[in-house]
Amino acid sequence: MIKRSFIGLTKPLLKYEALDVKTPEPSVIQPSKKVTLFLNKAFDFKDKILFNIGDNVKTGQKLSYNENSDAYVISTVTGTISSITPFNADYGKTYTAITIDVSENEEIDEQFSTFVKEPNIDTVKDRLAFIPGNLPAGLFPSTDTSPPIETIVISGVDRDLFITTNQHTVLADGKAIKHGVQILKQITGINNIIIVSSDHLMQDAGLTGAEVRIVDPVYPASLPHLIMRDLLGQVVPAGKSCEDLGVAFISAEAVASFGIAFSKGQIPVYKRLNFINKDGSSTPISARIGTPIRDILNAFDVTLNEKDRLIIGGPMTGTAVYSDDFPILPDTDAIMVQDRDNIPMVSDYPCINCGECIRICPANIPINMLVRFLEAGQYEEAAHQYDLYSCIECGLCSFVCVSKMPVFHYIKLAKYELGRITTAEATNA
Ligand code: SF4
Ligand code: SF4
Repeated sequence: MIKRSFIGLTKPLLKYEALDVKTPEPSVIQPSKKVTLFLNKAFDFKDKILFNIGDNVKTGQKLSYNENSDAYVISTVTGTISSITPFNADYGKTYTAITIDVSENEEIDEQFSTFVKEPNIDTVKDRLAFIPGNLPAGLFPSTDTSPPIETIVISGVDRDLFITTNQHTVLADGKAIKHGVQILKQITGINNIIIVSSDHLMQDAGLTGAEVRIVDPVYPASLPHLIMRDLLGQVVPAGKSCEDLGVAFISAEAVASFGIAFSKGQIPVYKRLNFINKDGSSTPISARIGTPIRDILNAFDVTLNEKDRLIIGGPMTGTAVYSDDFPILPDTDAIMVQDRDNIPMVSDYPCINCGECIRICPANIPINMLVRFLEAGQYEEAAHQYDLYSCIECGLCSFVCVSKMPVFHYIKLAKYELGRITTAEATNA
């Protein structure tokens, strides 16, 4: 068990968790009764969908929404569908939530094994969008006008503090990553594949067959924009993505999942993540995608009291959720519980122009000015005059803010609102 208190952190330098190479495989937490899977399409009661309450499903079975949509999920258990409901998540994300009552006897859907002999992009898109570690959409450009991807960067490091998912994968699943790298080369034709690693796992990363680059252990060096700048020598312009520059990022866990899927003929369903307890201790665990957070809390004997906070993700960039029914998703790298007495304070005090945020911001944004426009809801001015789109979403500004302003959340909200306006304008044009 890794023990270090986030609550006790004072100021940067914030160092990433360095996985102890003697750390055993994460203990597995099974769902007690149900899993809930989020299908990436808003549920409309009027739609005729291709599955129903009462249907039996097998582990690895594909559940497609309907004939007019490519959206699907892969069942991570064997059982019976017990509910199908709409689910509204943060920042306007909408899903179809499918709850499956878990059967005792597991049956594996054999359909995927027929695709294994000849891996190709269609198989990957059609079957593996739901793998642990998440399949990045940018890896396979959807239009002919999208810039071609020329380099794939495998993240063998973790994006937030207290998380060891990708490090654990590099340490334990080197062979699977190596196989995944071969498949990626085969189906994409891209030979320039780099793995970024912490220096203590450099040798393990080298066994994957990808070119190894070492990431500084200080947060936020493992975020893609900083890897692009510091290790690939390319600055991503404001408002552009790494894919726009021909570079796609994929987690080591997703590449290992590729390798396992094609070598075993089964789609992996277990997600590695860290459970960060109220005392700040971080424990690597493994759980089926769809497992409710409640089952993980129960496994650690954690009782949620009124006003305790549940966070999906790490301490710098995680997002609060309001129910312990919320499930583990393919990209959930951590579940964090904060005791109500230790929740970092957020205030509506004004900015006092201390400059702490500007000194720490890796994108050199004049945050003291930006935040004034964000507080006033003047998002377009914030974007045009104060570099909103240069933000790489590290969360350091909120962490250091002397006035305890939720600067990072203001920034995310502003980007979301501007995105909504742009979409609405394009739709009405
Ligand atoms: S989250 Fe804050 S500190 Fe980080 S890049 Fe954005 S503005 Fe800068
Ligand atoms: S750290 Fe907070 S109070 Fe200080 S300048 Fe930045 S936003 Fe203002």
